Amino acid sequence: FTNERELNETIIKVMVLGDSGAGKSQLFQRLLGKPFNPSSKPTAGIDFGTLTVKIASGKIIKAQIVDTSGLERFRSIIQSYWNLATGAIIVYDVTSMDSFNAVRKWVRDFKSKQGNKGIEPVIMIVGNKVDRAKSERQVPTHEAQAYALAQGFLFMETSASENRNVDLAFNVLLTDIYYSIA
Ligand code: GDP
Ligand code: MG
Repeated sequence: FTNERELNETIIKVMVLGDSGAGKSQLFQRLLGKPFNPSSKPTAGIDFGTLTVKIASGKIIKAQIVDTSGLERFRSIIQSYWNLATGAIIVYDVTSMDSFNAVRKWVRDFKSKQGNKGIEPVIMIVGNKVDRAKSERQVPTHEAQAYALAQGFLFMETSASENRNVDLAFNVLLTDIYYSIA
């Protein structure tokens, strides 16, 4: 980017991916300042939101966040948006080992649909629902963290229902994207 103005006007696009039920839409709603909805319905296809954040250096950046359906029948619609994304948040539910195991599949799919833009997209793995009882947890923090570290991904645990680490997760991701493209 030749100047700051150009960068600021560049839409940083982030896909929110992961299995159905992981909490993608509730994280997305929280991020946009909406209250938690305990009877959230599965997302039909995609949903867009615009976010303006102040990153660590004090710079203001704008991002388009794309909430997606984890349901198989919407896959082709969703995948048509992937090649324009500069980042992805791949969400699993810490109380579901299946949803964590599916993270690898989401990473593979996301990477396979990346056009060659000369930019390596930034991936963050997010373990959601940390508010749930300890006895319900199936994915230990260290296991997910080790996976993310080995793959060069960012990692965060969140709770959409208690609004824990939600803003932070997106802020960290957008900061990383900002520095990777600036
Ligand atoms: P999506 O399919 O990934 O978009 O998942 P949703 O956001 O629709 O959430 C699926 C279900 O999990 C809903 O019943 C939500 O209320 C619930 N849920 C989402 N986030 C959390 C969370 O952080 N904690 C708890 N306890 N439940 C959550
Ligand atoms: Mg959803």
